[in-house]
Amino acid sequence: MKIVLATSNLDKVKEIKEYLKGYEIYALSEVVKPFEIVEDGSSFQQNALIKSRAVFAKLKEQGLDNEFIALSDDSGISVDALGGEPGIYSARYFDLDKNGKVCGKNANDANNRAKLISKLKALNLKSSPAHYTACIAISSKFGDYTTHGFMYGEAIKQERGTNGFGYDALFIPDGFTKTLGELDNETKLKISHRSKGLELTNFVLKSLKKNFS
Ligand code: IMP
Repeated sequence: MKIVLATSNLDKVKEIKEYLKGYEIYALSEVVKPFEIVEDGSSFQQNALIKSRAVFAKLKEQGLDNEFIALSDDSGISVDALGGEPGIYSARYFDLDKNGKVCGKNANDANNRAKLISKLKALNLKSSPAHYTACIAISSKFGDYTTHGFMYGEAIKQERGTNGFGYDALFIPDGFTKTLGELDNETKLKISHRSKGLELTNFVLKSLKKNFS
């Protein structure tokens, strides 16, 4: 059983590969030609399934469904003081207008973080409770499976550290005084939403692997 990752986010690919050592894992571009996936779900789970199913459909088209499964991650940060924003729009936060519609394609990690900082500043807050969510979805010839992982902590209004990606420089996990941007990769791998979701996914992968052989 081989796994193709239904994501083009290289930071996620790195973390997932590190966590799922022992499996034969391929990046999307190594197996499938580039194509657009419209993530128009209203939850992390819906968007994760949209991605894993779209990639699995391509695997099937290419006659690879007896060899491969597709694994996706949909994730983001939800900040309590902002009513859960940016949530499922974490990757596109900069492009989100006042009415909650995505306008344009200019969002990147830096301007997403800048928007979060300005929102916290506008509320006169130094920080707010926040959490990361990751939904991991698998699509295979045996069906679809999803798991969730969470990491709780605080979102702060000043960037600290350069490790990780996305909002990591603005997030202090519970039980720590440093941001994920200041903590090393090994520590993040132990506590992250993605790792917790993947830990549960491991049970699914083990049983799928048995059925493949
Ligand atoms: P997705 O690719 O649509 O799932 O969007 C994920 C977005 O959520 C990323 O672009 C980041 O902005 C944010 N995000 C998810 N996981 C992490 C993480 O582990 N660290 C920092 N930001 C994250």
